[in-house]
Amino acid sequence: MAELEGLEFGKSDFVLLDEVNMEQFMENLKLRFEKARIYTFIGEVVVSVNPYKQMDIYGKEAIDAYRGRELYENPPHLYAVADAAYKAMKRRAKDTCIVISGESGAGKTEASKYIMQYIAAITNPSQRAEVESVKNVLLKSNCVLEAFGNAKTNRNDNSSRFGKYMDINFNFNGDPTGGHINNYLLEKSVIYLSLSLAVLSALQVIGFSEEEIDSIYRILGTILILGNLQFETDSESVQVVGLEAVSHIAGLTTTKPDNVTKSLLFRTVATGGGEVIEKGHTEKEACFGRDAFAKALYERLFCWIVARINAVIEVKDYNPVLHGKNTVIGVLDIYGFEIFENNSFEQFCINYCNEKLQQLFIELILRQEQDEYQREGITWQHIDYFNNQIIVDLVEQPHKGIISVLDEACLTVGKVTDTICLESMDAKLGQHPHYTSRKVGQTSNAGMGPPTWEPGPPTGEYSVEGFLDKNKDPLFQDFKRLMYNSSNPVLKEMWPDGQLSITEVTKRPLTAATLFKNSIVALVDKLGCKEPYYVRCIKPNEMKSPVLFDDARCQHQVAYLGLLENVRVRRAGFAYRQPYARFLQRYKMTCEYTWPNHLMETDREAVEAIVTQHGFQDDVAYGHTKLFVRTPRSLFTLEQERAAL
Ligand code: ATP
Ligand code: MG
Repeated sequence: MAELEGLEFGKSDFVLLDEVNMEQFMENLKLRFEKARIYTFIGEVVVSVNPYKQMDIYGKEAIDAYRGRELYENPPHLYAVADAAYKAMKRRAKDTCIVISGESGAGKTEASKYIMQYIAAITNPSQRAEVESVKNVLLKSNCVLEAFGNAKTNRNDNSSRFGKYMDINFNFNGDPTGGHINNYLLEKSVIYLSLSLAVLSALQVIGFSEEEIDSIYRILGTILILGNLQFETDSESVQVVGLEAVSHIAGLTTTKPDNVTKSLLFRTVATGGGEVIEKGHTEKEACFGRDAFAKALYERLFCWIVARINAVIEVKDYNPVLHGKNTVIGVLDIYGFEIFENNSFEQFCINYCNEKLQQLFIELILRQEQDEYQREGITWQHIDYFNNQIIVDLVEQPHKGIISVLDEACLTVGKVTDTICLESMDAKLGQHPHYTSRKVGQTSNAGMGPPTWEPGPPTGEYSVEGFLDKNKDPLFQDFKRLMYNSSNPVLKEMWPDGQLSITEVTKRPLTAATLFKNSIVALVDKLGCKEPYYVRCIKPNEMKSPVLFDDARCQHQVAYLGLLENVRVRRAGFAYRQPYARFLQRYKMTCEYTWPNHLMETDREAVEAIVTQHGFQDDVAYGHTKLFVRTPRSLFTLEQERAAL
């Protein structure tokens, strides 16, 4: 319904499709991509296709065009959604959030940056210094997190290996006062990295001290050395190859070389009788320990940086009595459903997270619709939908969900293999309508998931190989103790659990799946009390090409993102709504009673005249302030007539 676009660019809102089916959806998506229209609405949701080229649509002019306007007054754009979220926050004092999802390389992080930039551009018109400084730190924190958390993968040159949720706090003026970042680190692979000057300066702007920056360099150096460190077995004992590596690590971490060697080659274990002994590693165990150590160093560094940034951007001295209500816009940049040929623990976690978000999406969208109908005095229409709670339960239910079975297997003393774990899942979940398992060659697969959300994401199949190892905390306590005993206070701070003695650590640590689950549950709780806005990102091809629209790949993503269902939900009620005055402004020329001006008492009556003249009175409902239209066809007719004049 966008003002500035003609029909040759396809339909700017998918609710305007003649019929909701995959074919029409894809046709419209492709046409718009080819015409360089990378954004399309589904109601208030923005669907975005990565253009893989610089678009001239983000400049100051565009920002001015979207600022303070209604969603439908401009072509679909991230700015329209950002502005809607901002307006709701400012005008109605609502906490809002913008959820950005899509697969790797689909454009989530770019979208989140444009949204942040938009918010930064439209706030603090009076340029108050303290607000500018908050904005600066918020934007700079992005740069730092990307430097530490992004890596070049074959799917994306600048891939975020973590999910990020950022709350931005606003005062009653609508100016940013601070924020908070939550990260969802999944992939434990180490990113080797070198820090650019831009990152260094960002660290300084945020307020990292010289000592802290020095410690960051030292940790990165240690990770690099560990990456090259080798072991050899001579006359039955395992040794580190080359002593320089050890002394180098000791120097960087301010620990004793002997202790470094010891942590690399031995582990302390408590025997049944309460005795503590040192057990030498095999070469394989030593390699495993070294890798786990490098990963843990990286992970803790990342989490520490996030915590440091949070300490800086945290809202301080905010007095609601003095300053009015403190409102929040949350921005979530997180991986979408991921299904590959081979899916492992990481995909399992990602997809579980997406089932949770999908559930929230339905709940919130339906609730939002319901609220709006109530506000406008319109009878609520029941919408039928698949409730994917059953899938979520399959994964997270205490005692019998997949995570719980997995945890039990991890905590069982003795040799539990992935296959044994699968058997115990079969025993507990075999009867579940959404669970199946099968043997594939040497490995076993378990299936989970839909038919959720017809015709949404199809079943996901996961290979259980490696599940147990990835779920356990693989790091020997000896490394934790080594780091805790460093005389570098920054390192010490990162390893508080290193102070536990070996007999104390027998307490069961939380597993990776449970930690992840807890963080996602907390995230969903946070999002659940906010008014949501959505950006759904699609990657047009695997080649990073600006001209290629790979139909099969795109269709796959549309299905996984549940976009068709999204359109259906939107159309099941009243797909389209507009305040009377705006509707009138837009279509008054299509009706003799309203052109050039109407003589009716109210705008609503004038709108009734237009609706009646075009014969779609059965397709609408009249709210207190808005006209609600059930199918888009009526509007389409109006649009065509308007265009023909
Ligand atoms: P991941 O999950 O791997 O982090 P992502 O969804 O965050 O992926 P981005 O890093 O945002 O993906 O985008 C990948 C690349 O696509 C960018 O580096 C950029 O080259 C290009 N790109 C994405 N969005 C846009 C855009 N709006 N305009 C121009 N190029 C874009
Ligand atoms: Mg990203």
